[in-house]
Amino acid sequence: MARLVMKFGGTSVAGMDRIRNAARHVKREVDAGAQVAVVVSAMAGKTDELVALCRDASPHFDRREYDSVVASGEQVTAGLLAIALQSIGVAARSWQGWQIPILTTQTPGAARISGIDGERIVANLVARNEVAVIAGFQGLSKGTGRVTTLGRGGSDTSAVAVAAAIKADRCDIYTDVDGIYTTDPRVVPKARRLDRVAYEEMLEMASLGAKVMQVRSVELAMLKKVKTVVRSSFENPDSPRSGTLICDEEDIVEQQVVTGIAFSRDEAQITLRRVADRPGVAAAIFSPLAEAGINVDMIVQVASDDTVTTDITFTVGSGDFDRAKAILEKTKAQIGYAALQGAGGVAKVSAIGIGMRSHSGVAAIAFQALSEKGINIRAITTSEIKISVLIDTAYTELAVRTLHAIYGLDEA
Ligand code: ADP
Ligand code: ASP
Ligand code: MG
Repeated sequence: MARLVMKFGGTSVAGMDRIRNAARHVKREVDAGAQVAVVVSAMAGKTDELVALCRDASPHFDRREYDSVVASGEQVTAGLLAIALQSIGVAARSWQGWQIPILTTQTPGAARISGIDGERIVANLVARNEVAVIAGFQGLSKGTGRVTTLGRGGSDTSAVAVAAAIKADRCDIYTDVDGIYTTDPRVVPKARRLDRVAYEEMLEMASLGAKVMQVRSVELAMLKKVKTVVRSSFENPDSPRSGTLICDEEDIVEQQVVTGIAFSRDEAQITLRRVADRPGVAAAIFSPLAEAGINVDMIVQVASDDTVTTDITFTVGSGDFDRAKAILEKTKAQIGYAALQGAGGVAKVSAIGIGMRSHSGVAAIAFQALSEKGINIRAITTSEIKISVLIDTAYTELAVRTLHAIYGLDEA
């Protein structure tokens, strides 16, 4: 008997009609004989609304209370979907994170799943013969005994973690697009749907801005080898299409050099001028930022010709920009630099593909194409399977479309 996890995102449960439609997808699988655990998000926009209420209550709100407020969105949709299932003759029961329990670390607003008793869920599925509808995004901190949430987009991670815990044959992520595309189809209408994408590529795409799956969920799927499919909940539940399978690279027959283009507009650039060129200076800059929980990316160090000083440039998320600058100004004496320059309004555009490992000249093609469009590159980083360029935000769409075309990804 197949065992499945079916996850429905915010737009897929945005109102009662959508919830009823999701219920029909679940019924199809149950009728086909599968054991099903469902994971739901809050209704689209609900979590934003709850976050705004917390901010309204106090700009310096207690993060533990934030968790208890924002976790409520998923409680509602879990219950409503269970009712919708029952009303079409499918036995179902809703479960909140603490009832499973989905155990997590303590960090409010950004907890990580530390354990799920899969056998207990399975025993329940078998003994009761009913669909378990689990509230995504939320868990229970073992340390504090309080409700926690997993960070925005965290229901994806709940779903993959449950799938791993119950050894599901597949984890289906139902969303508002019918799979993973070569880039965000809302920005580039010529984007193509991929039949398959490798875990590593999906991980890069998610980390570099494609918000279709939470980064942590892809990490977990890769680590636990969860067969994950991204597919649409909007199509007719009686004639579903296959979506995109996230799988091992060995399972991809026709490998392109570049598989996809990702972008993130929420970046800021910081440059430290004339930093003392001595051992320990990078640690002096980046350790305090790390301690403050600020993620740093695209670090570029310029070798200066006098070898006494150097320039260091890096990016942070725009939400961390002011905090990062304040920390660096406070530690100016310890670091030893002449000037700090910061620029908001920058975007990171990346080309990703495991085929890059065995092809040279991939980056040069991008640089040439961008220069022909008059787009200035502020910083570059590369890894084995990706190239990222930092540009002015105003050129984001043009850059994404240009790279999408030059790497042969446009739909014919
Ligand atoms: P859900 O509410 O179901 O979790 P999300 O909004 O989190 O849905 O993710 C789906 C969205 O991700 C799509 O509507 C699409 O605009 C966006 N997206 C970004 N990059 C991609 C991509 N490469 N392929 C498909 N969708 C993408
Ligand atoms: N509802 C949560 C959010 O909007 C979790 C999720 O949808 O995955 O971030
Ligand atoms: Mg999402």
